[in-house]
Amino acid sequence: MNPVAENLLLIRERITKACAAAGRNTGDVKLLLATKTVPAEKIRAALEAGETYMGENKVQELAEKAEALQTIPHHKHFIGHLQSNKISLVLKYADCIQSVDRLSLAQKLQTRLEFEDRAMDVFLQVNTSYEQSKFGIAPEHALAFALQVQQFERIRIKGLMTIGLFSAETGQVRKCYRLLKNLQLEMTARGIPVHELSMGMSGDFEIAIEEGATMIRTGTAVFGSRIHPDSYYWNENK
Ligand SMILES: *Cc1c(COP(=O)(O)O)cnc(C)c1O
Repeated sequence: MNPVAENLLLIRERITKACAAAGRNTGDVKLLLATKTVPAEKIRAALEAGETYMGENKVQELAEKAEALQTIPHHKHFIGHLQSNKISLVLKYADCIQSVDRLSLAQKLQTRLEFEDRAMDVFLQVNTSYEQSKFGIAPEHALAFALQVQQFERIRIKGLMTIGLFSAETGQVRKCYRLLKNLQLEMTARGIPVHELSMGMSGDFEIAIEEGATMIRTGTAVFGSRIHPDSYYWNENK
């Protein structure tokens, strides 16, 4: 069997187990594959194995792989830091932007969407670990931010996204995910439809599933390790 397909079986098993342990339905947790640095052919193997959600961190990689894989329908989410000068390109290829984290970006997104006479699905990214190195709106400003973004009628808020703390202390990791869940409850009570909770990665997604994740994002557990450290993707310009 193709190694990617083999890894996917293992991940699907882990998801099933975690959902059973948490008393949740396996079908309520989507698997998004984080495909940064992964060549299109490897992604094709995952698509052929039945996966449908792919996430890219860099606009250029999103564009290249979307072109290479255009004959296989799949969801393309943008999960990296989005610079506002890349908005038109990301809109051309992505069907959801999970990393909306500042008002200036939302404003420019709205303006461009108006110009193109269309709408876009987004998640709001929250910095639940409070690490300086990470992007995302501060948790205490998240509700006010969501209420502002909701005023932009071309932007459809669908969920919340976070990158949890990297730590062997699972209690600290869990805290991040619980915080995002609580923000979701607070926002839905205010009528903001943040039904998706995108949280959990290769090393910790069981915790995220216990805390209510509806979408987990895995890269290394499917495709193997990457040449660049993750800080290369998360801290640019920080
Ligand atoms: C790379 C990445 C992931 C996946 O990380 P792994 O540890 O490889 O599973 C998830 N989310 C974001 C935003 C990423 O950049």
